[in-house]
Amino acid sequence: FEGMTVVELSKRTGKSISDLQDIMVNVGEKVCSEFDSLSIDIAELVAMEVGVNVKRLHSNEGSEILPRPPVVTVMGHVDHGKTSLLDALRQTSLAAKEAGGITQHLGAFVVSMQSGASITFLDTPGHAAFSAMRARGAAVTDIVVLVVAADDGVMPQTLEALAHAKAANVPIVVAINKCDKPGANPERVKVQLASEGLALEEMGGDIQAVEVSATKKTGLDILEEALLLQAEMMELKARVDGPAQAYVVEARLDKGRGPLATAIVKAGTLICGRYVVVGAEWGRIRAIRDTIGKLTEKAKPAMPVEIEGLKGLPMAGDDIVVVESEERARMLSAGRKKKLDKDRLLKIGEERMELASPSE
Ligand code: GDP
Ligand code: MG
Repeated sequence: FEGMTVVELSKRTGKSISDLQDIMVNVGEKVCSEFDSLSIDIAELVAMEVGVNVKRLHSNEGSEILPRPPVVTVMGHVDHGKTSLLDALRQTSLAAKEAGGITQHLGAFVVSMQSGASITFLDTPGHAAFSAMRARGAAVTDIVVLVVAADDGVMPQTLEALAHAKAANVPIVVAINKCDKPGANPERVKVQLASEGLALEEMGGDIQAVEVSATKKTGLDILEEALLLQAEMMELKARVDGPAQAYVVEARLDKGRGPLATAIVKAGTLICGRYVVVGAEWGRIRAIRDTIGKLTEKAKPAMPVEIEGLKGLPMAGDDIVVVESEERARMLSAGRKKKLDKDRLLKIGEERMELASPSE
């Protein structure tokens, strides 16, 4: 939508030029000629008003595209050790060691390897969080670690997690956990997974399965290597310069600092001081902190950071877009809030209709 003219927007939305110009007046924009090109913010506002969904696509032209770390989500059946595994992985992080093991809770952490490579883990396990984010259009996760307990084997939520990863087209690395237990039978887990259609590496496929123990902290380095190998095959890259395109993975209200959001940058660089629209909220980034709580000026792709300065609390999966002024931020946020309200009313209306005409 960047740089689209009123004429082009009219073609895309099926609305007349004068209708679009009326809407522009309503959202507080000066009326412009039909051949003037619109800023992406205005185009989004107008498209929202006429009920067209827009996705912001940033041009990568002329900017440097560099490899970026993978963003990983852990999923699996309850009690198979997701939380334990994340805790164990967190402790392998150099940053955690440097900070004396104290990292602040961000909903994400980074494991930095001796080789200089790093992996970003989202530390809200479970497919509920994964699906909620995806439902909101946030494709944050690159790789899913499917945790299966070696003593328990494949269970209902293992299959659910598998289905979610498949639906999202996100590759899987299997972590067969609790291999320290006397009743552990990793071979049985592999056979079960294969019968679910997972093409494991040792059976000629390309899905890696690693045997680990979260409590004994064994196999963690092999799991990390497997994740890096998977990431390498995917050739994960991102534009580093230019406006940030980011997502919220967690948000909370702090008594003193106000709304805080953990963000992961997908592309570009998030810079302190910029005006942003986050979901339907807006603000000016007052501070950016990294996973050990250190203030930083900028956040690059796949780097989880906590941002401060929003006026309201956003939701997990909300997108973060950078706009050029406070006025734009307010306007876009107001437009998105209006759209949310409209959608909510529509949904209530539909539910009423269903209630009014019960099917036998
Ligand atoms: P989650 O529900 O998937 O997050 O599972 P948790 O991490 O809470 O672990 C469930 C239980 O399994 C806890 O009592 C853990 O101590 C135990 N557990 C997790 N990983 C291992 C492991 O590698 N070996 C053994 N023996 N127990 C484990
Ligand atoms: Mg847990």
